[in-house]
Amino acid sequence: MSGPFSEGLAAHTLRYQCCESCGAWQPLQRHACRACGNTRLTWRDAAGMATVYAVTEVFRAPTEPFQALAPYTLVLATLDEGPRVMGHAEPGTVIGQRVRAGFFDVDGQTLLRFTRS
Ligand SMILES: [Zn+2]
Repeated sequence: MSGPFSEGLAAHTLRYQCCESCGAWQPLQRHACRACGNTRLTWRDAAGMATVYAVTEVFRAPTEPFQALAPYTLVLATLDEGPRVMGHAEPGTVIGQRVRAGFFDVDGQTLLRFTRS
């Protein structure tokens, strides 16, 4: 994974893409606005507050660095700004819970980790 989103994570910033013309937020990541078709999209920093939309417990990790973490919890969380992002979360996190985005490093890559707020 590369690009502004993961570069943001590396700097411990959660970013989302937004239309310069109408201001609509974009599902990660688009080349033209889903609302008005404008191709001038910009990245904004999210405040980091979100609501859990879906939760998955991962028992078999896809790669060796993640196997050391397993079992772990992944969530799909809806940022207060609108976009949904995937991230790790504390065990026991449930749908509908309010969470705050944090960051952790695995195998040289910075990932999102949500904690209950
Ligand atoms: Zn637009």
